[in-house]
Amino acid sequence: MALTINNHPERLLPVDPNIRPVALRLYQEVRDLPIISPHGHTDPSWFAENKNFTNPHDLLVTPDHYLIRMLYSQGVRLAELGINAKGIGPPTEPVNDSRSAWRLFAKNYFLFRGTPSGLWLNQIFTDVFNQSEALTEVTADKYFDSISEQLQQEKFRPRQIFDRFNIEFLATTESAVDPLKYHKLLRDSDWNGRVVTTYRPDSVIDPEHAKFTDSLTIFGEITGEDTYSWQGYLQAHRNRRADFIALGATSTDHGHPTARTANLSNIECEKLFSRVVSGQFTADDAELFRAQMLTEMARMSLDDRLVMQIHPGSFRNHNTCLFEQYGGDKGADIPQAIEFSSALKPLLDCFGNSSELSIILFTLDETNYARELAPLAGHYPCLWLGPAWWFNDSPEGILRFREQTTETAGFYNTVGFNDDTRALLSIPARHDMSRRIDCSYLARLVGEHRLTEDDALQVAKDLTYNLPKKAYRIEDNDSV
Ligand SMILES: [Zn+2]
Repeated sequence: MALTINNHPERLLPVDPNIRPVALRLYQEVRDLPIISPHGHTDPSWFAENKNFTNPHDLLVTPDHYLIRMLYSQGVRLAELGINAKGIGPPTEPVNDSRSAWRLFAKNYFLFRGTPSGLWLNQIFTDVFNQSEALTEVTADKYFDSISEQLQQEKFRPRQIFDRFNIEFLATTESAVDPLKYHKLLRDSDWNGRVVTTYRPDSVIDPEHAKFTDSLTIFGEITGEDTYSWQGYLQAHRNRRADFIALGATSTDHGHPTARTANLSNIECEKLFSRVVSGQFTADDAELFRAQMLTEMARMSLDDRLVMQIHPGSFRNHNTCLFEQYGGDKGADIPQAIEFSSALKPLLDCFGNSSELSIILFTLDETNYARELAPLAGHYPCLWLGPAWWFNDSPEGILRFREQTTETAGFYNTVGFNDDTRALLSIPARHDMSRRIDCSYLARLVGEHRLTEDDALQVAKDLTYNLPKKAYRIEDNDSV
């Protein structure tokens, strides 16, 4: 007999029978609020072209590095998952077709027991694709055929999915040298869905980025500025930020190895910049340049009002061998310990007291939630605390975030939830998990008589809807 999918309606709510009804009441009030997704990595071409997706494997598995990393850790090879090596010439090992790769995924689906990915996928299978049997080796083909067939229907085209998911706002992330072709198509289309871009200038700010040299050339061509002079380079950023703003961007995003910032004199900046563009720079020069550029980005944000996001501390492409064969985003990024208080001080000394500036801090290092991040965000007017990110976007991770930050930063220096995903279909499941955990935490405070249920309900609504709109400067007058 086939196994049933585990997708209990009261999943993730507290076990305590006195607290669970409170959590459930709160959750029921926020469950159906619109989704605000102010930071993520979905592909704007999906919404611009609105073509049907093909099959569950290419949609759900291939782009999801959370899934790839787990499977790889258990000896599944990327070619077996249908992923092509990026090198030119014939592949060194046979690459599975989508159906064979899906069968292998299904056979190994048990690996995701107890993980957030398992919870998200089960919710996608039941709520989006109406499956009731668990995914196993036995049901693999049934799933593949049923989902492939559904994906051909009108209601499974990207814009229809977006509308059905009740997404009110969704930001993608594009490089500073992206032509923004799909966002222009979206702007000129008659569809009302609000999909905007985010300015991610890492490839023109990080001298150690694999594409730095090429990107700097394109940056000059695209902006008409001399990007080999310090002033021209800064002006190119201003121009490009204006292009992004014209296509709806409300924020920038900076994925630096550390949170270091700097405040050098103009002469020092010019000297450092000329070393960087000459290619004759040290690792210290590269770090100092990234640091100075965070401060420059903050200065520009004071002029153009883009909210800054700093996502530091990921050791990208840790597996060199895999990176050389397959490129980035294949599940080989590893969190690192990171320091904020000294690192951010040069920037904060310049702009930290301004409420006009808005900087959202993220970390993969939970040890500094209570030690540094909550005290920083709980003091400086320009700082906000981003939600539990990536490896910490899990039931326990979200709970630990609230437990360690609320006493110092409260709820109102945090920004609600980010799904930060490439996986379009997982967006409702991810937001739902965060809503359930926030409501569970709030219910506990109600049970301990630290909050009234009325206050808890307003906080739940703020965390779900009002705070992300405020923090990301998503302007309209709606609030709940
Ligand atoms: Zn991201």
